[in-house]
Amino acid sequence: MSKVIIFTGAGISAESGIMTFRDAGGLWENHRLEDVCSYDSLDKNRELVLKFYDTRRVQLSKVEPNKAHIQIAELQKKYPDDIAIITQNVDDLFERAGALKTIHLHGFLTSLKCTICEHKMDIGYTKQDRETSCPKCNNLLRPDIVFFGESAPMYELLIQELNDCEIFVVIGSSGAVINTDNFAAYTHYSILNNLEPSYYIDEAHYNEIIYAKATEAIDDIIHAIEVRL
Ligand code: NAD
Repeated sequence: MSKVIIFTGAGISAESGIMTFRDAGGLWENHRLEDVCSYDSLDKNRELVLKFYDTRRVQLSKVEPNKAHIQIAELQKKYPDDIAIITQNVDDLFERAGALKTIHLHGFLTSLKCTICEHKMDIGYTKQDRETSCPKCNNLLRPDIVFFGESAPMYELLIQELNDCEIFVVIGSSGAVINTDNFAAYTHYSILNNLEPSYYIDEAHYNEIIYAKATEAIDDIIHAIEVRL
């Protein structure tokens, strides 16, 4: 398990041009989360949900990883056994920045999964073909996104990584979906980087707090990690 967890949220991809939802008044690209991020909505308003993720995939094809993704990926390549990149984001910007391994807690935009057998299918940045069904069991395919209220199997890996974690770094996460305060409290050293204080985060749990854009904060964050490795 790794000594360092770099835990990221929507804020790290904001400078690449992917909007966070808290900063957009609680909306994700002009949609209420419950309309595009719930199983109930997929069931009752399937076309709206599929179109939303089709649009997100097209948008993703047009953006690039930023300096923060790139420097974190480089740090992981330099210390492959010590750095775990764990993200709530569904974009592939760490992968495109060259990261060796990224744990996606909430799914992956460029893949679909079967509603029954959970078989996954990579569709890149294309729109979901409504006629294609699961190649294994022929059931309906859906975006490979963890909706509110659904189980998130990757949380298990987060818990495992936390066992040996000594340095916990949060970048671009409001704490509204996953509260990181306890994770920070139980590690030797923790760093918080957001644009501004968040209602959901108790600053008392973090050793170092940087309110700045991730691309501006990243040099100091990398330095703070490397001196402690
Ligand atoms: P959030 O929207 O709740 O909070 C974003 C946080 O990022 C805020 O605290 C804000 O201060 C900070 N921030 C904004 N711009 C920043 C910047 N340039 N540098 C540093 N910090 C910045 O995000 P969350 O906590 O990740 O929760 C959002 C949920 O929505 C996640 O579950 C995620 O799956 C989903 N989501 C994903 C994406 C994506 O994949 N890129 C985008 C939007 C939402």
